[in-house]
Amino acid sequence: MKVTSLASRGHALKDPREQLRILNEETPVLATLPRFGQMLGQSGLYPLKPTGIDIFQMNLGYLCNMTCKHCHVDAGPDRKELMTRENLEHCIRAIEEIDAHTVDLTGGAPEMHPDFQWFVERISKPGRTIIVRSNLTILVTNPKYRAFPEFFKKQGLQVTCSLPFYNKFTTDKQRGEGTYDRSVEALLDLNRIGYGQPGTGLELNLVYNPAGAFLPADQASLEADFKANLQRKHGIVFNNLFTITNLPISRYLEFLLMSGNLDEYMQKLVNAYNPAAAAGVMCRNTISVAWNGILYDCDFNQMLEIPVASAGSRHIRDFDADTLNQREIVINQHCFGCTAGAGSSCGGATT
Ligand code: SF4
Ligand code: SF4
Repeated sequence: MKVTSLASRGHALKDPREQLRILNEETPVLATLPRFGQMLGQSGLYPLKPTGIDIFQMNLGYLCNMTCKHCHVDAGPDRKELMTRENLEHCIRAIEEIDAHTVDLTGGAPEMHPDFQWFVERISKPGRTIIVRSNLTILVTNPKYRAFPEFFKKQGLQVTCSLPFYNKFTTDKQRGEGTYDRSVEALLDLNRIGYGQPGTGLELNLVYNPAGAFLPADQASLEADFKANLQRKHGIVFNNLFTITNLPISRYLEFLLMSGNLDEYMQKLVNAYNPAAAAGVMCRNTISVAWNGILYDCDFNQMLEIPVASAGSRHIRDFDADTLNQREIVINQHCFGCTAGAGSSCGGATT
């Protein structure tokens, strides 16, 4: 069955309040699970406070050429939300003000933002890491984006790409027919110009997230498997594999509900709560800017529309690092996805 966004279907889950209600009380199991704040309290981490802003993450918009089954953004070709030029200018000011060490560009497909190249050129400077989160297929499906790998190289971008698995069956099942072949083609293009090759300094990372209602396997072992298989099958090389736990929100929440796995999955996350992972959750050193300029503790809170609890600085136009560093991070039951097992963040396991 063709996947479409929750928004285009007018699905009840397109309302984040409904998602949070379900996570908190839909079944007797969910209603009686420990609260995330309670667990943080037992680890001496409540209220959860930031350690600073090391990563400036921007969601350029929800427009995407794909409609993956588990997308936590509910992105797709029908989504029209894109960051305005005005908000991009506010972001540039904030990035320069804090002299951001890392800028992480995500979406949707960030390359599809019409100002993508202009923006990267404006913020690029020696010593600053700029990450582009690419779905790979965008680089080969439309001639318009064929030259983007060369642009990435010229700007020294770090390319972090999603690839659910090193085989066609699992990848296409999660992301749509033809995804694996197109991803392989894009990875080979990136390798050809030096990405992932030793000594080039052009970093190419892959992101793995489980195809079903289970936690990712050990990151180091999975990276070794991916490296061996992609090398043997296609001659592909890359630097790191990041394992990411699926958070029970948006289209992944829909999948859990439809497959009858929600109770069990939440119990799994709660049982795997790891205090060390809780201490290293990414919201402590990240700020996430939405396409409309609203500031969030992370991309997941952005999708749930729970902005930063920082009265004086809730929009990028009012960005104030000192005020934001004093804030209390807003948590809810979905946060158990970040603290299960080895932990999970946009940069993979956290312990
Ligand atoms: S490529 Fe990424 S943003 Fe686009 S639909 Fe798939 S998971 Fe969502
Ligand atoms: S979901 Fe966001 S706010 Fe919650 S622990 Fe993870 S990164 Fe932090």
